[in-house]
Amino acid sequence: MEKIRKVLILGNGGREHAIGWAFKNAHFEVYFFPGNAGTKLIGENLNISEQEIFNTAVLNDFDLVIPGSEDFLVKGVADGKENVFGPDSAGARLEGSKCFAKLFMEKYNIPTAKFQIAKNKVQLANALKFFSPPYVIKADGLAQGKGVIIEDDFSTALEKGCKLIDGSLIPNVSGPVVVDEFLNGWELSAIAIVSGRKFALLPFTRDYKRAFTGNKGPNTGGMGAYGPVEIDERLKEKIKEIFEKTLYGLEKEGIFYKGFLYIGLMVVENEPYVLEYNVRLGDPETEVIVSMEPERFVENVLKAFSKKDFEEYVPSKYAVDVVVASEGYPENPRKGQKITIGTTDSIESEGSLIFFAGVKEVNGELFVSGGRVIHSVGTDVELKKAREKAYGNINNIHFEGMFYREDIAL
Ligand code: AMP
Repeated sequence: MEKIRKVLILGNGGREHAIGWAFKNAHFEVYFFPGNAGTKLIGENLNISEQEIFNTAVLNDFDLVIPGSEDFLVKGVADGKENVFGPDSAGARLEGSKCFAKLFMEKYNIPTAKFQIAKNKVQLANALKFFSPPYVIKADGLAQGKGVIIEDDFSTALEKGCKLIDGSLIPNVSGPVVVDEFLNGWELSAIAIVSGRKFALLPFTRDYKRAFTGNKGPNTGGMGAYGPVEIDERLKEKIKEIFEKTLYGLEKEGIFYKGFLYIGLMVVENEPYVLEYNVRLGDPETEVIVSMEPERFVENVLKAFSKKDFEEYVPSKYAVDVVVASEGYPENPRKGQKITIGTTDSIESEGSLIFFAGVKEVNGELFVSGGRVIHSVGTDVELKKAREKAYGNINNIHFEGMFYREDIAL
């Protein structure tokens, strides 16, 4: 561990800024690709092409590489590379292919919704007839969170499903689909740090997917989150069993899994079912997890990376993350507005933090460059105060067309 000095983080969101911030505070040299205006304040954004990131000689310049987003992993950035803390492309198929993930769960007896795989209209119609509405159809490959259709009407489900298969529903997404039984319950995400068969759960968080206050509006990448969220011991044990079975299955498949494993769950009558696997940390969950206990987070990542023992930890405070977004998000966010942020002190002071997402810098000024713009995070031993800090800090942020949810952690 003594040898680790230079850390490279791959991605350009608030998640990557937050991971970098924790490592910077622990006195590492931090680098980002491609990074954003926030990551530039704490480290160096590499000015190279995406192709070069897959070049071993380029990556070997860093002691530790942490891929923030799944794209890099699915494309094989960790393949054969000891210094990348993430699964290789075989392991990344858990996220990169829904068909692979479902067949894997079936094989290793991991609880998930009943399902069928369909490759054409006839198969899709037969699969839909097997279930009752609402019908759930999922694209096989990465679809930036847009690959799930939930429809009550059979013909509409069939029509949309066919378009998903032939590639006319979502650009660059085509091929087989998974038809799932609809599960009615409440959703929970569990994220663990993993090294082979060993894992440690990170604190549970709750995220808010809908765009507007009161759970209204379209689904987004996430408009905020808070943690830690308490869950009962029995459910927690069941979730750990799912991680154990998953890591056992991966080992049986000849995959050594390292990095983060995020399991999206539906809890039905207190029993967890896997909806999806993600092979990296979530965004905005990361901003919350990292802010609660940055030292423990870094320490555990380093231990897992170095194949040393690491353990679950209980955070000593709460964190609340409120996302400030640009009008039109998620469909068509407005971009290019000038951003002003009070004083630089307000970026990090007394349990208030700001992480940048869709922010770019031009000649020392900040402009909106994406839908989710800034994460305002508050931390405190009391949830209420953490919340007040997160919202209080938003008063320092100004740009035209900004909006945020008012009910995060309420
Ligand atoms: P996924 O990308 O598979 O996590 O699906 C995205 C969202 O679709 C989930 O967060 C759920 O809200 C919903 N969903 C997915 N699969 C099911 C299912 N089998 N039953 C009910 N809702 C589901």
